Amino acid sequence: MPNYVDLHMHTTYSDGLQTPDQLLDLVRSRELAAFAVSDHDSVGGSSEIRSLLKVGDPELITGVELSCSVGDSDLHMLGYLFDHESVAMDNALVSFREKRNRRARTMVDKLRSLGVDICFDDVEKYAAGGAIGRPHVAEAIYQCGAVGSYEEAFEKYIKDKGPAYVPKENFSPEDAIALVRGCGGVTVLAHPMINENHKHIEMLANLGLDGIEIYHPSHKKRDTDWLRCEAGRFGLLVSGGSDFHGRDGRYSTVGSQKVPVDCLEKMKALAGKRQCT
Ligand code: AMP
Ligand code: ZN
Ligand code: FE
Ligand code: FE
Repeated sequence: MPNYVDLHMHTTYSDGLQTPDQLLDLVRSRELAAFAVSDHDSVGGSSEIRSLLKVGDPELITGVELSCSVGDSDLHMLGYLFDHESVAMDNALVSFREKRNRRARTMVDKLRSLGVDICFDDVEKYAAGGAIGRPHVAEAIYQCGAVGSYEEAFEKYIKDKGPAYVPKENFSPEDAIALVRGCGGVTVLAHPMINENHKHIEMLANLGLDGIEIYHPSHKKRDTDWLRCEAGRFGLLVSGGSDFHGRDGRYSTVGSQKVPVDCLEKMKALAGKRQCT
């Protein structure tokens, strides 16, 4: 029986490059006990994978990555083990995908005024029906020849506070926690060292956060060790995953983070005590 899980990965339903069936093939090759697909603002990839599972496959954990705002900075909240057929969750995600759509249109307008010759259809094409994000805008900027690489599209135009950057209308952390809990799930602060979100751990713990992601490709060992102590200090669970997007270089591959299966067992015990409201 494998001893590891990977609770953070993306598909084409958000900004991952792998379709659900491609991702499932990769997961099957990695000796995992369980995995969670945690697309941004979508559970479509997770649902599609659920329908493809065969006997003997690793266990699929329902997941999602919700964008939240604290002040003017972005914070990602992972939700796990909630009712995957919840109407409340579905309604919230539909509304956030519509907001992402409108935001991408505004970014395209800004880019055009900066002389980048793309249109919204290009961005939509790269999103392929999934939740539209900056990676799709970056792809369109790159493919039209305005920059020499995908990374440069961020650097020159759409990185946080870049000239064509448009902030998302996000959840507050309170609302994200309430939504996931209301659907019987648990919440985990994603990659706390990005945007210095570790500064908010105590505040989030007071709001009812359940855990923090201590295993993540952006972490050095000392980050993981420090975050483990922080989790202990505030009575939080620990979790982690590869944050696999299928893009070379920037993200690690499925299974890379060696997240012990025990992390998931503790999350399940907590979710087991929660009811859908
Ligand atoms: P969005 O949720 O639409 O704001 O897009 C956020 C995603 O864009 C992140 O999950 C990353 O995949 C990607 N991203 C953000 N900043 C950068 C950057 N500077 N370089 C490359 N990718 C980035
Ligand atoms: Zn992403
Ligand atoms: Fe994230
Ligand atoms: Fe992610």
